[in-house]
Amino acid sequence: MTRVIPPGAALGVLGSGQLGRMFAIAARRMGYRVHTFSPEEDTPTGQVADVEVVADYDDLEALRAFARHVDVVTFEFENVPIDAIEAIEVLAPVRPCGAALHTAQQRAREKQFFADRGFPTAPFFRAASLDELWDAVARIGTPAVIKTAAFGYDGKGQHKVTTPADVEHIWTAIGHQEAVVEKFVSLQAETSVIGVRGVDGQIAQYQPFENRHRDHILDVTTTPAAMAPALATRAAEITRAILEELQYVGVLCVEFFIDTEGELLVNELAPRPHNSGHLTFDAAVTSQFEQQVRAICGLPLGSTKLLATAAAMANLLGELWKDGDPNWAAASRFDDVKLHLYGKTQPRRSRKMGHMTAMGRNVDEALDRVISARDALLI
Ligand code: AMP
Repeated sequence: MTRVIPPGAALGVLGSGQLGRMFAIAARRMGYRVHTFSPEEDTPTGQVADVEVVADYDDLEALRAFARHVDVVTFEFENVPIDAIEAIEVLAPVRPCGAALHTAQQRAREKQFFADRGFPTAPFFRAASLDELWDAVARIGTPAVIKTAAFGYDGKGQHKVTTPADVEHIWTAIGHQEAVVEKFVSLQAETSVIGVRGVDGQIAQYQPFENRHRDHILDVTTTPAAMAPALATRAAEITRAILEELQYVGVLCVEFFIDTEGELLVNELAPRPHNSGHLTFDAAVTSQFEQQVRAICGLPLGSTKLLATAAAMANLLGELWKDGDPNWAAASRFDDVKLHLYGKTQPRRSRKMGHMTAMGRNVDEALDRVISARDALLI
């Protein structure tokens, strides 16, 4: 039988951003203690954790000391070095395990993982030299997207190729590092499925989220996603298969494209709670963050049901603060909209972010509430 890590135990989280913060809030509500580890202080996670350890991810001694004081370790971003995970693993369980992180933290490996298992992706080739890059672009055709194989998120390290003449300067721009060349997909929609798998193999999934991006960064999420039921079923099957294949423990987000032909394509994995699942914090019986706590502690998973027919989330990004504090009073007049903010408390003007969530009788109604509240911030 799986050993349950009971409330009162200490949960370690590598990383200290907004996802770690919401994980910590869920964990503390359930009676756990939370220790966070990252190179920064006064972090979104550290502000609500019991212990904030400030050290570099390559400080193996600090990582070992951190691991000795907690019962299980998780992470809130996927760019944690594998050496850090290996140093911790001998002292405390790491969930999801290092192997899942290894697959998800390098784009070329991740794409290969999908292709080897027959999961549909946009056509792609790997390239490790300028010659291979030319060759890959010639084979894919233009328009294409060149993405660095390592450490990319939110469109960072991504370049669109409209003509083969672009290739050489993109190779320079990405610093001559390994890349993946992908066909540029004509997108009808982007969706994500958040699934969770427990230590005993139990699986739960939220219904798909529909995501709209601005400048490659998530702007709004709505659920249920407007997609054909057959596609939603297929997306859920793929997510389940990935969770099982990786013997995954914890929350996993699978991001999908739906192209203009109505084909479902897997884009990438996030081996952790995901921005598109923020709305589950207020609008689902169990949030993705509580699921992460339940999964890594060996507890049964919670219900993924929504508390309303539909829900929407709008991201609040740094630009809202560019002319000083936004108009919180005006936005707060939307009395059914939930506000989340995270950022450093000092200095007062440092980078802040947040999101808003609302529920509704349908997606349009929920979306209208969050967009109106967000617009009111700039009144
Ligand atoms: P990624 O970092 O791969 O998640 O990409 C960030 C965003 O860029 C995606 O959510 C899409 O909006 C866009 N994007 C990435 N890859 C492609 C592609 N092959 N074709 C069209 N749009 C893409």
